[in-house]
Amino acid sequence: MAAPATAMKDPLTDPGRAPRRAIQRLLRSVFGMQRLRAGQQEVIDSVLAGRDTLAIMPTGSGKSLCYQLPASLLPGATLVVSPLISLMKDQLEKLHALGITAVQLNSSLTRAEEDDALATIARGGKLIIFCTPERLAMPEFLALLSPAPPVLAVIDEAHCISQWGHDFRPAYLEIAAALRALGRPPVLALTATATEEVTADIRAQLDATRLHVVSTGIYRANLRYRVIQVTNAGEKQDEVLRLLRETPGVGIVYAATVKAVEDLTARLEELGESVTCYHGKLAARERQQHQDLFMGGERRIMVATNAFGMGIDKPDTRFVIHVQVPANLEAYYQESGRAGRDGLPADCTLLYFQEDKRVQQFFLAKHYPTAEELAAIVAAAQELPATFRADALQAALPEFSEGHLKVCLKLLKDGKLLRQDRKLGYSLKAPSAKTPTYAQLAQIYVDKQERDKQALEQMVAYAQSGLCRWKLLLDYFGDAGDFERCCTCDNCLSPPALAQPMALDDIVLPELSAAPPVPLITVGSRVRVPRYQIGTVLSVAGDQVTIAFPENTTRTFMAEFVAPA
Ligand SMILES: [Zn+2]
Repeated sequence: MAAPATAMKDPLTDPGRAPRRAIQRLLRSVFGMQRLRAGQQEVIDSVLAGRDTLAIMPTGSGKSLCYQLPASLLPGATLVVSPLISLMKDQLEKLHALGITAVQLNSSLTRAEEDDALATIARGGKLIIFCTPERLAMPEFLALLSPAPPVLAVIDEAHCISQWGHDFRPAYLEIAAALRALGRPPVLALTATATEEVTADIRAQLDATRLHVVSTGIYRANLRYRVIQVTNAGEKQDEVLRLLRETPGVGIVYAATVKAVEDLTARLEELGESVTCYHGKLAARERQQHQDLFMGGERRIMVATNAFGMGIDKPDTRFVIHVQVPANLEAYYQESGRAGRDGLPADCTLLYFQEDKRVQQFFLAKHYPTAEELAAIVAAAQELPATFRADALQAALPEFSEGHLKVCLKLLKDGKLLRQDRKLGYSLKAPSAKTPTYAQLAQIYVDKQERDKQALEQMVAYAQSGLCRWKLLLDYFGDAGDFERCCTCDNCLSPPALAQPMALDDIVLPELSAAPPVPLITVGSRVRVPRYQIGTVLSVAGDQVTIAFPENTTRTFMAEFVAPA
């Protein structure tokens, strides 16, 4: 996935010397920086050359500058689509301090503030417009932008566009149609992580066939990963309390459920810890208060569900502890990656209790579109005027949540049963011989459910593996290259073969033969290991095999000690 450095011979990507000088001047005079960081120059050059660009850069590596700097050079408006209102406010204040004109449009504004913002947009000229994807999908907003359409569209947290990613947001499905309505300006998509699958989906969803991908890699040498295996809930609680006692500095503890967050917070309060919590069941005001307590340094520990996170930037976070296994490695990387953004060493610890997998399995049983629902939408649409808006359909189908309806509409559009015009109005299309059935359209969600299951298995395999944790993460993101080991994770510091020494007498070595035997060790097969009972193979990674034994214990062995049962 790591993109090769762009050769500067390509006239499309070589912005020439004058812009380079202009970039340098701006960098010093406006942004107060001496030079760009790795990847930034390539992204900025690509954007200024008018190319669709995807920048995959770890958080804290200066993604914002990749659009702020071009926005200061391009003649016209730069539109920034972001899912987070709190982040917009932050960015806006920073830009105003730099003397750059910027406005935001979202549901947090008062009427007067919104009128002000709209007037600034109507005046045109060089400015940065922040909006939510929901706002971008409003025909009124598009009409306002149309007289002077943006010259660059930036999509923040671009992985949210992919239904294969871990943080899909239905509102992101509407961005592409809105950009087409605006004459499809060049796009800069920004994300901290994207698997190859998600990258391909971003390309397809944005209709960006010549997408230039710049990836600075996801490796952050200051993050020390480790997994602590526990065998029951009591042991887990003891471990997390021990870790919190022994680890100095501020940090985040992630739990999978609201109840787990509340229980742990209460326990820590009893023990006199400086703690606050965050989850989706708190009122918006409480969430904000708790977040401010943590961000402002008034509380040392934040206990939270994954509702806490996107856009959170507390660089001095020294640790992130997961007390339950997340749904997949992307989620784990994003959440654990909130540690150590200041570049100083930080600890990312996963407490793994095999039973916790069931919690995630429960979450996986999500509601995806079905053939019956697609049929119901088409039937409801037939009762509406020939051209209708999504909100009219929503009113006719109150049993559909807004997000779910968006996903279904996208499916029908992809199946060419529905058309969307430049004003974002929908109309039904007569089926042709090539029109897929509803069941065929819904099939991709049957497949998705299967992929979600596999992603959870990969997460579990990570937790049980004896290999370098960073190597496993980099492999997952297709970013490993010739990376061998980090030398700081638990498995590098104390390889599992050494952690569980066996007396030599106990080891029954396989008989030597001329050709090494082909081991019949595959996931799911029954195997035997000296000194242990017969178990089932959970995962095979390189020469290491993770085996589940009766009574819920799992262990990792070198393959040479494992024989078919
Ligand atoms: Zn390692």
